[in-house]
Amino acid sequence: MEHRFKSGPHPVSKVEASFPDKFLSSPLRFHEAYVPGEQPASFTKAIKLNTNENPYPPSPLVQKKIAAEIHGLNLYPNAKSNDLRKRIAEMHDLEFEQVIVGNGSDDLLNLCVRSFADPEKSIGMLEPSYSLYKVLASIQGAPLKEVRFHSQRFELPVDDIVSSGTNLFFLTCPHAPSGRTYATSLIEEICSDFKGILVVDEAYADFARENAISLLSKHRNLVITRTFSKSYSLAGLRVGYAMGDPAVIRILDKAREAYNLDRLAQVGALAALQDQKYFNDKRTEIIRSRDSFGRVLENWGWTTVPSSANFIFTEPVDAKGRSGQKTARDLFDYLSARQVLVRYFPQSPLTSSYLRISIGKPEQMTMLIDHIEEWKKQEHPK
Ligand SMILES: *Cc1c(COP(=O)(O)O)cnc(C)c1O
Repeated sequence: MEHRFKSGPHPVSKVEASFPDKFLSSPLRFHEAYVPGEQPASFTKAIKLNTNENPYPPSPLVQKKIAAEIHGLNLYPNAKSNDLRKRIAEMHDLEFEQVIVGNGSDDLLNLCVRSFADPEKSIGMLEPSYSLYKVLASIQGAPLKEVRFHSQRFELPVDDIVSSGTNLFFLTCPHAPSGRTYATSLIEEICSDFKGILVVDEAYADFARENAISLLSKHRNLVITRTFSKSYSLAGLRVGYAMGDPAVIRILDKAREAYNLDRLAQVGALAALQDQKYFNDKRTEIIRSRDSFGRVLENWGWTTVPSSANFIFTEPVDAKGRSGQKTARDLFDYLSARQVLVRYFPQSPLTSSYLRISIGKPEQMTMLIDHIEEWKKQEHPK
């Protein structure tokens, strides 16, 4: 097991920097920004299976409510997003004081870092998982401890998280990029034994059978974040929320931008929640497509992590029965050349022979499968 502390307080450089670097805050001096997945221009006909967006547009009710709200854009929004918070609290059977909303769940993750990390208070994360956590740690100048997996199957290293000695730990569940989920009992073990604030990032929970919400009543150090970007088809609107102990939520509330959710986002998210039938229909459709794609991969004999998310993580095998980094890269390039975008993570040995494929509409999945069938027939020079 390898524990590594990275970033943290930076030594002041002896060499005098030039404009404008000499004015930079010390964390920013060595900071590297988050690298988002590719967003092709909207007129291209690419099949976009690379950033786990929902392939379906939002509910028609979202369009209607947003259109009606435009008229009121001369006025500031409700600063606390009261109606939306209230609706989210009701939906999860929580108190209003246990919920905060933000400009995407990234905003909430950022607020957790602002509130609970600094050069002395470290941040922990699973490596690999969502790469934004380390970007946020870097901006804050907080030391980062990456907790590694023990196996290719991404089993949860409970003891290593508990003993990480970090002040704030980000646990992605269902996990990304593997898509696997963790039993709530394991999450509870961490809540009980870990001495810091545990953030369970449930960006994909709507595609899973289990989630950690029931633990909120028993564990004050638990914060759960959710997003409208995936299951509610609203990645472009930027709405997410966090749930936790009222005292923790009060702190996040103090740290946020005064108007962190604009009027369109507030009414749009409310409308999406209102149309639960649309939400459930689309979610069911995606889960069905995911499971049928999973069966195709199984028939091909590709090692595939059982997915509880809206994407699948699989290890391609070529015509000669070879898998590995070169094979994964080859299929990635083959698909890209045909405007089928998927995601490849070459950085980690746990991910470098796999591709992560977001679940699209059934017809997109059929086209993807056809392309892969063609690729599988080819001889690939190695
Ligand atoms: C997509 C994603 C998010 C970001 O959600 P936004 O609400 O769009 O900011 C957060 N965490 C994970 C693990 C994600 O995959």
